[in-house]
Amino acid sequence: MTQASSQLSFANTAEIHTVQSALETKSVTLAYEQNVIAKNLSVEIPNGKFTVIVGPNGCGKSTLLRSLSRLLLPQSGEILLNGENIHSQSTREVAKKLGLLPQSAIAPNGIKVIDLVSRGRFPHQKWFQPWSEADQKAVELAMQATGVMDFAQHNVDQLSGGQRQRVWVAMALAQETSLLLLDEPTTYLDIAHQIELMDLFQDLNRVQGHTLVAVLHDLNHACRYADHLIMIKAGKVIATGSPNEIVTEDLIKQVFGLSCLILPDPISNTPLIIPRGRAAKTS
Ligand code: ADP
Ligand code: MG
Repeated sequence: MTQASSQLSFANTAEIHTVQSALETKSVTLAYEQNVIAKNLSVEIPNGKFTVIVGPNGCGKSTLLRSLSRLLLPQSGEILLNGENIHSQSTREVAKKLGLLPQSAIAPNGIKVIDLVSRGRFPHQKWFQPWSEADQKAVELAMQATGVMDFAQHNVDQLSGGQRQRVWVAMALAQETSLLLLDEPTTYLDIAHQIELMDLFQDLNRVQGHTLVAVLHDLNHACRYADHLIMIKAGKVIATGSPNEIVTEDLIKQVFGLSCLILPDPISNTPLIIPRGRAAKTS
C-alpha cells in the first residue's frame, strides 16, 4: 500500500470552489426522535483541509457525520454543502460531491471485494449505460491505493477486519468525490496499516486536493495529521483550530477527563499526548 499510495493519480482532482467552507452546519439540532444529541451546533469544514473530529464515546461524532452527509435530517438549522442547502440536492448529486465511510459498515452477504468497491461508482452511472472505462479505472486506482488488489476476487466476509476496512476505504475512494467523510477509518488496523492509511489520506488531501474529515480516537494521530481539529463533548464544540494552537493539558482534561502530559512530537512537532493514568498516582 505504501508504494501504491505514493503513486496515487486519480483522474478526478478536486473541484475549485469559491466558498471557504466545503461543508458547514448552521445552528443545527440533531436528535433521534426525543433524544437530542446536539443543540444549535455550528461546525465548519474548511475547504481543501484535513479536518479531524475527536471527542469521548457517545458525544455525537457519528451523528454529526451522518448529518453532514445528508443521512440524518436536522430537527432545526441547516447544512450547507458548497454553500447550498444539502437537503435541496438529490442523493445522487450529493454522492457525486461527498463520500462517507460509516463507522460500522455492513457488506451484503457473500459480496466479492471488487463488486463492493465497484458500488462506489453508483452515483456516476447512468442506468442505460452501466459500466464505463472511467468506472473501471476509478475502481482499479482505488484498489491499488488501498492495497486490496490481491484479494479482489475474495468474499468480503472472509477477510480480516483490517483488510475489510481497507476495502471500505477503496469503495469510498472509487466514488471520486472531492470531499470524503471517514468515521473511525483506522479501526481494526494494526499500527503499520493505520499509519499507511493516514499517509494515504494525507496524500489525498495534499497531493490531490481533496477535503477530508475523519473521526479518530487516537489523539496523537489526530494532532499529527489534522490541519484543523474539532473537539466535541456532549454535542458541543469545545475547541477548534490547528492542533498546535488548541491542544493543551487543560483541554484534554476538560474534554476527556484525562490527566496527561503534552510534549512536542519529535517527528512531527505536533502535540504528543501522554496519559498519566495510575502511574501518576504511584510515582
Ligand atoms: P459517537 O460517534 O461520538 O460515539 P454517536 O453519534 O454514535 O456518538 O452517538 C451519540 C448518541 O446518540 C449516543 O447516546 C447514542 O446512543 C445515540 N444514538 C446513536 N445512534 C442512534 C440511533 N440510530 N438511534 C437512537 N440513538 C442513537
Ligand atoms: Mg461514532
